[in-house]
Amino acid sequence: MIQSFELLSTISNDAFREIFQSMTEGIIIVNKEGNILVANRVAEAMFGYESNELSGKLLDFLLPVRYRGRHLQQRNDFSSNPIPRRMGIGRDLSALRKNGTEFPVEISLNYSNASGNFIAMAFITDITIRKNAEEALRQSEEQLILYASELEKKVEARTSDLNNSIKTLEHEIIERKKAEEEVRKSLEKERELNDLKSKFVSIASHEFRTPLSTILSSISLVDQYRQRGDIEKIDKHTQRVRSSVNHLTAILNDFLSLGKLEEGKVEVNKESILLIEFLSDVAEEMKVHLKSGQQIIIDCSAQNGTVQTDSRILRNILINLLSNATKYSGTNKKIRMTCRDSGPSIYIDIQDEGIGIPEGERKHLFDRFFRASNAGNVQGTGLGLNIVKRYVELLNGSINYSTEYQKGSTFTVAIPNHP
Ligand code: ADP
Repeated sequence: MIQSFELLSTISNDAFREIFQSMTEGIIIVNKEGNILVANRVAEAMFGYESNELSGKLLDFLLPVRYRGRHLQQRNDFSSNPIPRRMGIGRDLSALRKNGTEFPVEISLNYSNASGNFIAMAFITDITIRKNAEEALRQSEEQLILYASELEKKVEARTSDLNNSIKTLEHEIIERKKAEEEVRKSLEKERELNDLKSKFVSIASHEFRTPLSTILSSISLVDQYRQRGDIEKIDKHTQRVRSSVNHLTAILNDFLSLGKLEEGKVEVNKESILLIEFLSDVAEEMKVHLKSGQQIIIDCSAQNGTVQTDSRILRNILINLLSNATKYSGTNKKIRMTCRDSGPSIYIDIQDEGIGIPEGERKHLFDRFFRASNAGNVQGTGLGLNIVKRYVELLNGSINYSTEYQKGSTFTVAIPNHP
């Protein structure tokens, strides 16, 4: 640059002025004291001065007041150690127009000692447009960041809405599946009940026919025997009527019990039962149903004479098992009813010397409507043991059996005995 100024001195004054004025940067030349020697047109226009109005003015006039104090020092530093450089690296420079407004500038400094006098040159660019553009860019970046963060928040909110909707949907699906399962179960139950009803109709029409015709024929015979005064025959037939009615009652009771169990209407009401007394009452009740010569032998070794359970349900269980024991064994056979306690349970065995259950058929023993092939024409519905098992389960107990074909069977009921 120094060389270029020296070169300039060889160029004619007019040519120099031409170049000086036609520069696109504002140029201000000051002396060591900071007085403006000359400014080109661009500089004058930039600062809002008339042509030549700046010459002779202190450079400080072109600085905002707040910079002026510091500037004197900076100017002195530059003149005592001049190095061409850009001013204000790393910070924004402002300049002051004549009308008092400020504008951002970029300034490069240079100097010359060409004519023996130190002169400094400032090359000034008005960077208002660039700064505005930068500011606009910064603002739009800021807005972009704001928009992005709003967008992010919106996405988060939508995602959480979506997750909530998914959860609600999943919940609805589970609820719907549950409802479907319940409908399916209740339909199944309804179908089972319908099956049961139609089975009942067919069993009833079959099982009721014999006792009803027995009753009818016995009654007409009783009429005849009454005319003849044959009391013995009358007794025989009234006994037949009684046992037929008992049989009909037993069938109806089975269906009634099953109906109640199916509907879940059987309630368990525990009470303290004196075991021996209770078993004797049941055996007494069964006496009328025994075949001739059959007898029930009670043998109770339970230490604890009482049991906490539902007496109505236990009675139904034992009556069912005892009536099977009598039905499936011959006349003069013994039926043993024994009780013992072991641990937390009471065990009651009903043992007969009857026909037993054929081996291959035993697995169906507790199925509804099961009748073993050797049951022959012994009357029955195939419901008793199914009902017994369900009653035992209601008491939280269990039922087991052992049987020997044509020798006899033992059914063992275990009932928990906690208060
Ligand atoms: P039901 O006696 O009305 O036929 P149960 O459900 O009580 O119905 O018994 C089912 C079947 O099990 C009977 O039909 C019979 O074949 C067989 N069974 C039940 N108890 C005995 C028993 N003590 N001895 C031999 N067979 C029995």
